[in-house]
Amino acid sequence: MDRKLLLIILDGVPWRNFRRLFGNLEGWVDSGEARVWKLRAGLPSTSASCYASIHTGVTPQEHGCTGNGNVFRLSHKDVFSQVREAGGVTGAVAHSFWSQFFNRHPFDYVRDVEYDEPDSKTINHGRFHTMTGYGKTNQMTPCDVDLFATLTNMCLRFGLDYGLLHTSTLDSMGHRFFHDCEEMDHACFVMDEMLAPFIPRWRQLGYEVIVTADHGQDERGHHGGRGALQQETALYYFGDAEGPEADTAIDQLQLAPTILDRTGAPVAATMTAQPFLK
Ligand SMILES: [Zn+2]
Repeated sequence: MDRKLLLIILDGVPWRNFRRLFGNLEGWVDSGEARVWKLRAGLPSTSASCYASIHTGVTPQEHGCTGNGNVFRLSHKDVFSQVREAGGVTGAVAHSFWSQFFNRHPFDYVRDVEYDEPDSKTINHGRFHTMTGYGKTNQMTPCDVDLFATLTNMCLRFGLDYGLLHTSTLDSMGHRFFHDCEEMDHACFVMDEMLAPFIPRWRQLGYEVIVTADHGQDERGHHGGRGALQQETALYYFGDAEGPEADTAIDQLQLAPTILDRTGAPVAATMTAQPFLK
């Protein structure tokens, strides 16, 4: 592998919340350690469809995941499979949909909650949670600092070349409280503060880091359809590559080939979007 990379997906954070409320990430943009661009999710701008597009680099119309009620083992090649093809070690700390899409479906609570499979063709080291029973009055999300720590633990123990972290805390907060409220201000503030100490640590371990979301959310916490609030989020990049002009909007389909290009793994023939980093 040429380089190691971590992809951090904070579910359901619209562009305006990243730019207004994530003071540590924005501070690193000001100091030059990070760059930020707008990223536009595909349609439907629904979580599962976006996870599948982020990692396969193809549209929902092509991979076939039409929403959270239609999760299955995808047939397309994805970031995990391509890093493995190059001999890299992969890991994921994420919602169980990621395991179902890219490793095994259906999800077995006992077998799949935690696995270490050195010979896997996709995910070598998985730590998953299902959020079973999720609703407005009970978010069922793990604490985010525990997820960040688990990813760091796996980087140190297993020498991950590529690691994915995904957390639904802020998506759940948006569905519950909407966006013009003290609860959401505080939730974004806490996420930024919990994440911040890990970024220099990951950089010291030799990782490039991308922080982004799968989609945005509108005034009522909705997403799934078309529109800037639902589709647009931010992408923060910590690394040495050159990126596009500041006012460029990155397409979600560019993420997979960009990650593979940075790590030195082969870009699958189905991933036809252009990498945004050089
Ligand atoms: Zn989502």
